[in-house]
Amino acid sequence: MSDLPARRLLLVHAHPDDESINNGATMARYAAEGALVTLVTCTLGEEGEVIPPSLAHLAPDREDRLGPHRVRELAAAMIALGVTDHRFLGGPGRFRDSGMMGAEQNKRDNAFWNTDVDTAAPHLVEVIRETRPQVLVTYDPDGGYGHPDHIQAHRVAMRAAELAADPDYRPDLGPAHRIAKIYWNRVPRPVAEAAFARLHAEGSAFPAVAAIDDVPGVVDEDRITAQIDASPEHAARKSAAMAAHVTQVAVVGPFFALSNDLGQPIFTTEYYELAQGTPGAPAGERETDLFAGVTA
Ligand SMILES: [Zn+2]
Repeated sequence: MSDLPARRLLLVHAHPDDESINNGATMARYAAEGALVTLVTCTLGEEGEVIPPSLAHLAPDREDRLGPHRVRELAAAMIALGVTDHRFLGGPGRFRDSGMMGAEQNKRDNAFWNTDVDTAAPHLVEVIRETRPQVLVTYDPDGGYGHPDHIQAHRVAMRAAELAADPDYRPDLGPAHRIAKIYWNRVPRPVAEAAFARLHAEGSAFPAVAAIDDVPGVVDEDRITAQIDASPEHAARKSAAMAAHVTQVAVVGPFFALSNDLGQPIFTTEYYELAQGTPGAPAGERETDLFAGVTA
């Protein structure tokens, strides 16, 4: 325990690629600063749609080999971000991508959405008690945009944070640890509007533009409590990490598209809402460091 870095950040995400799209700049910054950055990904993203035609054979309705392929994409993204501590919840393939809300795949036995929160949470409690993060980043209760695996990732992360702090809960998983601050991923609506206006004005390599509501976590500005501005180097690392998810993300300049081929801005400033813990900035001001106010 004593040889852990002084600052420790845990991120909980649903699928490979979510970490780079939401938090790539933040992860690159804290990894470069010597913090322990631990990413837990809950599924392999087996149900994703495949962008490059040359890899279409991996899709779940064909060879169903997308999961192992995305494990490698995620590993490449972690190299781009300089992050070395990455785990899959319960081990690779323990919980399967549930597909979009209402899909038949939601009901599969090992679908993440079809797993009891208290069945999945102990796997994360073990990671929390081992890495002892001061800061946890995950999604809001809607998962940012309603995807079942994102909602479930939120529930499991919040439950595991609670259980990890309880000394009476599963002492076999390590000594209790309370996470000081929990953040949800956000994008302020005015920032999203300005970025989409720029995309419309400049045009992009993509045939059409996504809607602001396609962006997860968009909220009114007054909900934002922290803002992490990427340096040019960390912004470049974020773009490279997103591009490493070749089957899921196409990156062209400051824009990207998912399998729907709709252009979206890459946000090089990342925004957060403090959901639990004490703000490290005076009232009305945004934190510029997720560890603000945290004592080692
Ligand atoms: Zn996702």
